[in-house]
Amino acid sequence: MPGKNTSHDRNLPNFEQDEAIQLAADHYGLDGDWQLLTGERDLNYRVKTTDGAFVFKIANEGDDEDIVGLQVEALRHIASRDPDLPVPRVFPDKDGTYFRRISGSSGTSNIIRLMSFLPGVPAQGDEITHKTFRETGRFMGRLNVALSSFYHHGARKNVHPWDVSNCLHFQSLSDCIKEADGRAAVNSVFDRFRTSVKPRLDATRHQIIHHDAHTGNVLVDPLNPESVAGLIDFGDMLYGSLVADLAVAVDVSLARFPDLQQVMNNVALGFDSAFALQEDEIDLVFDVVAMRAALTAVIAASWIEQDPDGPQYIQSYAPYLDAVEKLLSIGHEKGTRELRRTCRFPTYCPSTPDEASDQLFEDELLGKRHRFMGEKTTHFYKRPMHFERASGAYLYSTDGHKYLDCYNNVVQVGHCNPHVVRAISRQAAALNTNTRYLYSNVLEYAERLTSKLAPHLDACIFVNSGTEANDIAWQMAKIVTGNDGGLLMEDAYHGITEPIREFSPGHPDVPLPSHLQGLIVPDMYRGPFREDTPDAAVRYAEDADRAIADLEKDGHKVAAFMIDSALCSSGVPEVPDGYMRKIEKRIRAAGGLMICDEVQSGFGRMGQWWGHEFHGVTADIVTMGKPVGNGHPLGVIVTTNEILNHFIDETRLFSTFGGNTVACAAGNAVIDVIERDELIENGREVGDYLRDSLRELANTQSLIGNVRGAGMLAGLEFVTDRDARTPATEETRALLELMRQRHVLVGKEGRYGNILKLRPPLVFQREHVDQFVSALDDSLSELSIE
Ligand code: PMP
Repeated sequence: MPGKNTSHDRNLPNFEQDEAIQLAADHYGLDGDWQLLTGERDLNYRVKTTDGAFVFKIANEGDDEDIVGLQVEALRHIASRDPDLPVPRVFPDKDGTYFRRISGSSGTSNIIRLMSFLPGVPAQGDEITHKTFRETGRFMGRLNVALSSFYHHGARKNVHPWDVSNCLHFQSLSDCIKEADGRAAVNSVFDRFRTSVKPRLDATRHQIIHHDAHTGNVLVDPLNPESVAGLIDFGDMLYGSLVADLAVAVDVSLARFPDLQQVMNNVALGFDSAFALQEDEIDLVFDVVAMRAALTAVIAASWIEQDPDGPQYIQSYAPYLDAVEKLLSIGHEKGTRELRRTCRFPTYCPSTPDEASDQLFEDELLGKRHRFMGEKTTHFYKRPMHFERASGAYLYSTDGHKYLDCYNNVVQVGHCNPHVVRAISRQAAALNTNTRYLYSNVLEYAERLTSKLAPHLDACIFVNSGTEANDIAWQMAKIVTGNDGGLLMEDAYHGITEPIREFSPGHPDVPLPSHLQGLIVPDMYRGPFREDTPDAAVRYAEDADRAIADLEKDGHKVAAFMIDSALCSSGVPEVPDGYMRKIEKRIRAAGGLMICDEVQSGFGRMGQWWGHEFHGVTADIVTMGKPVGNGHPLGVIVTTNEILNHFIDETRLFSTFGGNTVACAAGNAVIDVIERDELIENGREVGDYLRDSLRELANTQSLIGNVRGAGMLAGLEFVTDRDARTPATEETRALLELMRQRHVLVGKEGRYGNILKLRPPLVFQREHVDQFVSALDDSLSELSIE
């Protein structure tokens, strides 16, 4: 038989009560009313004295100084770390010793000790509720916080059958379960534990744990059964996983609580509120609860087989078998999903295709999306992708695959960058408020951000999105110049508020209001002036003269030109050298300002900090969004102090969330990472490699018409005929799905939808480029076969 103590031969210490009374009097001077308590292994007496109630304990002969010392020292440690936590207090004897070995008259040698008697009743009465379980979880969380700084060598010695991590030794006892179905159920839990659970459980946080907080050991206040009054019986303490401690507190044996998922959710929620669980831990709770139930079932079955009149506290294995069957019918995937939702962990995301989410769950999500977010809300791909996790350059789908992200320009320093995530969560835990107060990180951020720009750009306003930044910038330009006309690219995109939607036609055919004029996109591959036009920059820039004149004809003078330096919505065209400077000259001459929208091109995207600097122009107002907070909503307007003060005087602008402490923590952390990891340099190097690789691929893939871009920004244009430059619109649409099948995410752009805009995170490496190019090569080959 494995381990000790697997049978229910409890071998209680052989002492008459009179002898116990004498011992207590000799060593503790204890005198009072005596009552024998139940105990699994120790002889316990309650002694009521004029000083209060105590428990006098005579330990099982098998428990030596290490085992008893573990319990005594743990209780003393808890008392010092969390003095208000109601666990028994230990008292020294007349010699100041907290436990001592004595010889009994029957010839045995046992250890005695004295503890306080905790008031309260076991949490098994009819009055306890789910809240009691939540409070039990909270209590256990608190207890574990106190024990987290405790160690005692006895913890490794305390081998007993209830140790979940050691349970595989007991699978053979499942033969004692009479019902074939029940036996199979229990064995399936053991099998899963062996292959999938134990290896992960072993890797979770371990410390000394109580490991016996079932409802018989949790005491509640009889007048308020939702309030935990204490915890007793520290005899099963060992060095184990926090999950195991939590799982024991999920007492599955109470007929009054048939909804085991709810019991589990409540215990986990309470535990998490006192001792934050980690993701690998919450993912194991369901399985470990199931394992504990199966373990209890087999041990109980074996005891009953050995001695049908065995210990009172386990007379039947049926409740545990029932629990196992219930848990199996819920299933670990759904159960874990519920636990995660309860504690507000992100939804579980499998790491291998074998564990992929079931189709039913995805169908349910899709249905809800239509119902609650509108049927017309667009999404990428024929069937939208379901992501619940990301890291660096990859998104992890619930199909168990990871997808290379070549599309997303928000997560500049990589998905879920740990430094940014920590900065956000640490700040959120400390303070999250607005700029009406003085606080340091917003000022640190403003100082650092402006230091990245030309010296005249020295003042910031914080908002929450790129749109808002552009909206404010446009208002500023109108107020400062006194004009109301605007220039933009003919297929620009700048955001979603009404005035900015007007700046976002997306296509030259979309009519503009009379105060706006769109400029011909200076596209050297597809525009009216191409690589063979030597003065293309001048020819394109002349369109600004036309636009300014047209505006004036309609009674509007130029307030500003709003320009995305990446020209993203035009498909990242190659802009002729000098073009932007020529436009700037014309705008200034007409009395307008340069609003440089750096939402796409900023923060190192184009191989240097700012896109407008790439084009060699001077900005009056710079707007930022997307990458500023690496996904955390943050928008910024940077301008001169003069413009800003003028604007604030006129508008008294204040944004509730703009520049909140958490957003600024994110902003600071993004700059940290860009600087520390030299991401702009990396973007330049890897971006060049990307374009070189694509140009090489163009030798064998005739659909590739043009490759362009700068830094970690590339436009890849597909044509069905290179000479005629016929847009490969349908092919590009099909390509997105083929790339998805190869686990690469890309997005199309341009007025013909035949351009891939590639804006991967700046953490992209050469191996990511190779993965992308290889997937593209395969997809293009498949397209040409079709
Ligand atoms: N400007 C540009 C150049 C953009 O690409 C976008 C978003 N695609 C915006 C502004 C608007 O940013 P947001 O969605 O944060 O409002």
